[in-house]
Amino acid sequence: MTATIIDGKAFAAKVREKVAAHVRHLKEDHGLTPGLAVVLVGEDPASQVYVRSKGKQTVEVGMASFEHRLEADTSERALLELIDRLNADPQVHGILVQLPLPDHLDSDLVINRIDPTKDVDGFHISNVGLLGTGQKSMVPCTPLGCLMMLREHHGSLSGMNAVVVGRSNIVGKPMAQLLLGDSCTVTIAHSRTRDLAAVCRGADILVAAVGRPRMIPGDWVKPGATVIDVGINRIEDGGKAKLVGDVDFDSAAAVAGAITPVPGGVGPMTIACLLANTVVAAARANGLAEPQGLTV
Ligand code: NDP
Repeated sequence: MTATIIDGKAFAAKVREKVAAHVRHLKEDHGLTPGLAVVLVGEDPASQVYVRSKGKQTVEVGMASFEHRLEADTSERALLELIDRLNADPQVHGILVQLPLPDHLDSDLVINRIDPTKDVDGFHISNVGLLGTGQKSMVPCTPLGCLMMLREHHGSLSGMNAVVVGRSNIVGKPMAQLLLGDSCTVTIAHSRTRDLAAVCRGADILVAAVGRPRMIPGDWVKPGATVIDVGINRIEDGGKAKLVGDVDFDSAAAVAGAITPVPGGVGPMTIACLLANTVVAAARANGLAEPQGLTV
């Protein structure tokens, strides 16, 4: 069997088109321009690339982008004051604090200072609770992108066995909640899981969010399963830098029914879902109808 490749890049372009159409509607019919504020503390090179890309794509879909770049030694108090200002700013509908923060800053404290209705990353404790209890929330972007691709590919996920490898707060746990919300039977695996290979082999849907290059080989994949590879790992291959996922793509693609590649799978969907969350937040903040198909 050769798996269907789930093209995250193409799907992300469709999501951005939908976002842009809704932004036009909000501007033309309601005089409302959705705005996203991104806060970057310090000079982490990967974070700088992400923030630049987020700002560029925000403007491309017609939204306002507000970038706040702070020195690495910024005090917690100064950062919290900035968040308070953004919470109160009616032009800002989404606030994202780029993680990781420098060690002297308490990420939980900072994230929980964001107004939950503007928390477009979905990491605020209120949004975590709302998602966990099946209520309307801001959904973390990476798992939201994975769910959108799964729904597009399968239609209903009801009754499928889903295995999520990884239990982080930003990917694994919210991914499991979303799959449960779509009536999958969900197993969350992690570094202490016994016989991970056997657990993975039971999955109709296998989501890998570990951070270990090519850790999951093809013989851990059930024939015909759908594999969503969240991992982004930089490796050296023949003297060249290369991005690979947590799944060994070639051997997994030989048995899976469908698979996301790295790069070009989950990655592009993450920023597209950030834009989707921002336009949803702007509509909700103004009591307007939410765009269809951009949230769960
Ligand atoms: P974390 O490091 O926070 O979590 C990794 C998880 O993997 C942990 O729960 C850990 O288990 C588990 N794990 C580690 N080793 C093993 C093992 N040998 N067997 C089974 N489970 C294991 O990572 P993130 O969730 O933040 O990210 C995961 C990956 O996804 C990374 O490659 C990251 O770069 C990528 N990522 C990609 C995004 C995208 O846009 N595509 C966005 C966010 C992340 P335990 O809890 O027991 O330690």
